Amino acid sequence: MRLASWRWGGRHHVGTVSADGRELTPLRCDDAARGALPIIQRLAQGGNLPPASGPRLPVSAVTLNAPLPRPLRGLWCAGRNYHAHAAELATTVFRDSLPTTDAWPILFTKVGECVTGPYDTVRLPAPSITSQIDYESELAIVIGRGGRDIPRSRAIDHVFGATIVNDVSARDVQVRHQQWDLGKSFDTFCPMGPWIVGIDELDPRDTRVRGWLLKRGGGALELRQDARTRDLIFDIPALIETCSRGITLYPGDVIVTGSPAGVGMGMNPPQWLAAGDRFRIEIDGIGTIENLFDHA
Ligand code: MG
Repeated sequence: MRLASWRWGGRHHVGTVSADGRELTPLRCDDAARGALPIIQRLAQGGNLPPASGPRLPVSAVTLNAPLPRPLRGLWCAGRNYHAHAAELATTVFRDSLPTTDAWPILFTKVGECVTGPYDTVRLPAPSITSQIDYESELAIVIGRGGRDIPRSRAIDHVFGATIVNDVSARDVQVRHQQWDLGKSFDTFCPMGPWIVGIDELDPRDTRVRGWLLKRGGGALELRQDARTRDLIFDIPALIETCSRGITLYPGDVIVTGSPAGVGMGMNPPQWLAAGDRFRIEIDGIGTIENLFDHA
């Protein structure tokens, strides 16, 4: 099952996506502005998918929203969760905050209000606030069945599906405040979509994640990130186990699994996103998101 959220005819809608990703079927929902959240909650309570509320329509006719435009409690995010990415940061200003043990993942949060649509513009804050904007191509897990103290052996049973997130990051702000929340949570710093693909269609534990930069003014797409989720240091079951230790996870909660190598900060010299640049992320089995970066 694929769940999407969109605007059409001046209203918010939520519904299913055809397997070829071309058509949408709207579902009856009183709270479609919350995207797929009310549907996931209903299914978690043992309910069925609500009935269709209208005819199918082509994806090309609508404006896609993030499938979870306002996640329940922000997003949990893993940091430094691919070996190659950890290695590229070992020579940057982040070297001093590298994990001192490989027993536990780095986890931080982005506020839910920074989520934006899969093709929306990411608004760059004023240069006096940050001048070091970077991308991170990541697979995000959406919880389907809640629970606390979920063992890794049963973690996949709690997954509804997966979507794409660009964990946009202001590196200078991350460094300035030592903790990452501010530098990761500027308005629009979390493009998400294009939809959630259910665990019935995709095994998120092994799929390919790629990210391309398209510099302002056009030219060729430049492949910057290319990895498989099977190479995560802390895999999806481990992240669910960790996040649910003493904390109840709810249907619709989001766990973002971490960036592959190839971020702008890891380059020598570092390369930051500028107004007019675009970044595209594709995850096999899910689809593509692409966002323009520009001043408000
Ligand atoms: Mg990240």
